[in-house]
Amino acid sequence: MKAVTVISSENLEICEVPIPEMKNDDDILIKVKSGGLCGSDIHIYHGHNKSATYPRIIGHELAGEVVGMGEGVTNLSIGDHIVIDPVISCSNCYPCSVGRHNVCSNLKALGVHTDGGFREYIVMPQKNVHKISKDICWEEAALIEPFTISSQVLSRGEVTEKDTIFLMGAGPIGLCILQGIKRIGAKCFISDLLAQRLEMAKSMGADLTINASKQDVKKVILEKTGGVGVPVVIDAACTNETFEEAIRLAAPAGRVVILGFESSPSRIAQFDIVSKELDVRGTRLNNHRFPAVIQWFNKKEVDAKALISHVFHFTDIKKAIEQAEYNHDETCKIVLKFD
Ligand SMILES: [Zn+2]
Ligand SMILES: [Zn+2]
Repeated sequence: MKAVTVISSENLEICEVPIPEMKNDDDILIKVKSGGLCGSDIHIYHGHNKSATYPRIIGHELAGEVVGMGEGVTNLSIGDHIVIDPVISCSNCYPCSVGRHNVCSNLKALGVHTDGGFREYIVMPQKNVHKISKDICWEEAALIEPFTISSQVLSRGEVTEKDTIFLMGAGPIGLCILQGIKRIGAKCFISDLLAQRLEMAKSMGADLTINASKQDVKKVILEKTGGVGVPVVIDAACTNETFEEAIRLAAPAGRVVILGFESSPSRIAQFDIVSKELDVRGTRLNNHRFPAVIQWFNKKEVDAKALISHVFHFTDIKKAIEQAEYNHDETCKIVLKFD
């Protein structure tokens, strides 16, 4: 079978590899049907993810069909449509023991620390496999994982319908978070540098869009909040500057939720956190959010299709990456298909 393999930084090939074998009773053999191309896949390709190891089959936003299973598998049948939770944890460490397995001390994220799913077949243990309705099309199903990121962000931010949120960044993840916020019924201000993205945000229910390339973000936010700032700021733009701005624009007693992997330090004064007694929280991957998010999809509470701008065959992944990198303005979510 074919697999998208990053052999080393900047060196990506479609390799011929054996179909994986089921080794344990709870293993499931999956025919991969669709996969979302994520910024983090592209970072691994460019060698920008410090924790990734090579060679690596990338891909962690995956949907597929059950084609084989071990004797210990319950609740699934051959032919079922499924999605894969990419969080592989040890069950024994401190974070696992307190119910935070997504930051397991021995975390293996699919497609980062262990081979991912941009290949024709993959074997996963039952606990990472979740059944979905056959009414959800394959392209949409590939977006269930990014929506679990949204669900995790909202959980970390303890967002309720009474909150006003300032969301920085209207890229694919930002727009998933926006849809999650609107699903709860909270108010959302959103900023981005691209007018097209802000148009999408508006059509998904954003209460206020701010073009950070033209408008003074701080001024607009303070105007809209009577000079107080926003109870919840979510930084999905993930630059040093947006992190600093997030701290400045949070209201006293507010929460700041950050998603970035930038390793260089931001300039943030202790006073800005302490004087407002802010909660600054990181959010990573998802903590058992798949069952809830699958219900969002089953009940059509979110519109994943609205995020998909392009579909490529997985063997054309280099074209897909070029599309994402060189036609940034007109590209939102890219989905790879495997048939
Ligand atoms: Zn992703
Ligand atoms: Zn663990």
